[in-house]
Amino acid sequence: MTTPVAAILTCDLVAQVRGRAFPADEIEAYKRSGSGWVPGNLALDPFGRIITPNPFGSIGDTRLIPDPSTQSEVTNEGGGQAVTVLLSDIVNPDGSAWDCCPRTFLRNAVSDFEAETGLRVVSSFEHEFMLRDADRVPGNKPFTLESLLTYEPMGSKVLQALRDAGLEPEMWLPEFGDRQWEVTIAPAPALVAADRAILLREIVRNVVREQGEEATFSPIVEEDGGGNGVHIHLSLTDAAGTPVTFDKSRPGGLSETAGKFAAGILKYAEALQVLTASSAVSYERLAPGRWSVGGMFLGENNREALLRICPLFNTPGANHDKQYNLEYRGADVTSNPWIALGVLIRAGLAGITEELAAPTVLSGDLSEIAQETLDAATYGVMPSTLEVAIEGLFANETVMSWLPSRLLETFRVVKLAEIEFTSALDPDDRYRAYAEAY
Ligand code: GLU
Ligand code: MG
Repeated sequence: MTTPVAAILTCDLVAQVRGRAFPADEIEAYKRSGSGWVPGNLALDPFGRIITPNPFGSIGDTRLIPDPSTQSEVTNEGGGQAVTVLLSDIVNPDGSAWDCCPRTFLRNAVSDFEAETGLRVVSSFEHEFMLRDADRVPGNKPFTLESLLTYEPMGSKVLQALRDAGLEPEMWLPEFGDRQWEVTIAPAPALVAADRAILLREIVRNVVREQGEEATFSPIVEEDGGGNGVHIHLSLTDAAGTPVTFDKSRPGGLSETAGKFAAGILKYAEALQVLTASSAVSYERLAPGRWSVGGMFLGENNREALLRICPLFNTPGANHDKQYNLEYRGADVTSNPWIALGVLIRAGLAGITEELAAPTVLSGDLSEIAQETLDAATYGVMPSTLEVAIEGLFANETVMSWLPSRLLETFRVVKLAEIEFTSALDPDDRYRAYAEAY
C-alpha cells in the first residue's frame, strides 16, 4: 500500500518548480488553507543554492495558496500512482497577495491589459528539448519517421501524459538538432498558457525518464550545438473571444492594435530580454544564423526575427483570423513562464497606451535585406551575454517599474551569483550543470 501524493507548487525566478506535498486524500483542506512557504526561497539559484545576501534573508513567512483550476494529474507509469499537482499563488500570512509572487505578476498584467484595452491575450509556449546521452540510433535524423519509431512509445506516452494533465498537446516531432524533439500545445488564455508551460517541462522530463532516457530543455547543451528554444505565441481577442490580431488590409496582416502591441514588445525587448532567457548559456543560442534570433525586428517568413508573424494557410475551412499569431522567439526554459509572458504583456500594453507606430514588417531572408532597411526596422541589440542582458534591464526604468523592486533585486543577486559560479566551470561542466538543472 502506498499513500498517493498531491503537491502545491510555485515556479521561481530560475524557473524551478518547487513546493510541498501531502496525502492526496487531504487535498480539500489544503485547497482552502494552502501550505507554508519561505520568502527567501525566491533567492534559490538553478543549482540549489540560496544566494545571500538577498532582500529576504531568513525572515518572514508566506503561504502557497493553490488555484483549484490548475489541478492536474501527473501520471507516473513506473508502477507508481498519479501525483496530483496544483499551481499556487504566494500570499502573505494575512492572505493578501505577496508582491513578489511570479504568478500574481502575470495575473495582474493580464487584468491590467484587459481593463485598459478591453482585449485578452491568448498564448501558447512551444518547447524544444534534447535527449541526453541517448545511446540509441539514430542520433540526428530530423523530422524522420525512423526517429519517431525508434523512440516509440516515448512520443505516445508524452502525448498521453500531456492529455492526462489537461494540456491539449498538438504536435510531437523529431526536431533539427541532435536528438532534439519539439512539442506544441494548444493556445489558451495567458495565465493558463503559462501554467501549462510550467507543467509541460516536468511532465516531459518525467515520461522521458520512465523510458530510460533523460530530457533537457537547456538552451545549449554543447559547444556550437543546436539550441532549445521556447517560442511564445501571442494573439489578441476581444472580450467575447473574437480574434483581433489579423487585418488583411494592413502590412503583414497585422491589425492596428496588434501593431502597437508588437511595437511595444520590440521597443522594450532589449530590457526585458533577460526575463525571457535568463541563463549564462542563453546568449550562446541567441545569435544570428541559428534560427533562433538574428535581430530585434518583426519578420514574416523569417526564423531569425525576434518577433515573427506566423504563416497563414489556406487549408479547407481555414480561419485566418484565428490562425494569425505572433511568435516571440527570444525565450528559453531558464525563464519563468509567468514572468516572461507577464513582461511581454506589459510591453505590449505600453505599446498600445503609448500609441506606438506598427513595426516595419521585414520579409524574406536576412541576407537579401539591405542593411539600411534592416537597421531602420530594428529596435535594439540582442544582448551578447547574461551580464549585458542584466544591465539592459537595470538601465530601463519603465521595464523595472513593472516589477516589484525586491523581486528585481533578488533576480539580480541570483543571476550575478550564477554568472560567478558558471564562469569558473570549464565549458563542458557548464553545459552539463545547465543540462542537469533544466
Ligand atoms: N531551435 C531553434 C531555436 O533555438 C528554433 C528552430 C525552429 O523551430 O524554428 O529557437
Ligand atoms: Mg522548433
